[in-house]
Amino acid sequence: MKCFNHTEREAVATCQKCGKGLCKECAEKYTPCMCDTCADQTRKNQQQQAQNKEEQRKQKYKDALVDTRSEFIKTAVIGVVIASIWVWYSYHYQQSSEGNRLGDWIGIFFCSFCIPFGWKVLTYLQSFIPISIFGSWWFWLIYIAVKAIVSVIVGIPAFVYQLVKTILTQRKINKL
Ligand SMILES: [Zn+2]
Ligand SMILES: [Zn+2]
Repeated sequence: MKCFNHTEREAVATCQKCGKGLCKECAEKYTPCMCDTCADQTRKNQQQQAQNKEEQRKQKYKDALVDTRSEFIKTAVIGVVIASIWVWYSYHYQQSSEGNRLGDWIGIFFCSFCIPFGWKVLTYLQSFIPISIFGSWWFWLIYIAVKAIVSVIVGIPAFVYQLVKTILTQRKINKL
């Protein structure tokens, strides 16, 4: 068998994909041993796969940000649960004066309610930083604590945004 690219040369190997004969020079071009056409095709496939993966990753975060009504309710329920635990804790373990209690309730409830929504926005923003973070357990503890605190601040406009968006989406669906 002769080399596919150099018809005057004797083939020393074959393309692993299509089986074309390759001379020593051509056989050494790619690892594993491939002809130009197959190497090009493989490279394109890999690029396409990487692109698909990246798009899937972005879509996942978009889905997390743009809520459906059921998602909205789910997130709100998480907030109510956090708020309930928080209020229960402050009632049982902290001595708060009678006058502050209503304020505590409103503040705690509002902030806790916003945490899950703020958390979602932060997770979405994180998608723009394509780095995976690895660390020990105390690193994760600090990471979660910082994210939760920032979530409270980001969460207030995020909650309002989601609420308005959910209502508008629901209206659109109703009109159809
Ligand atoms: Zn080939
Ligand atoms: Zn050759």
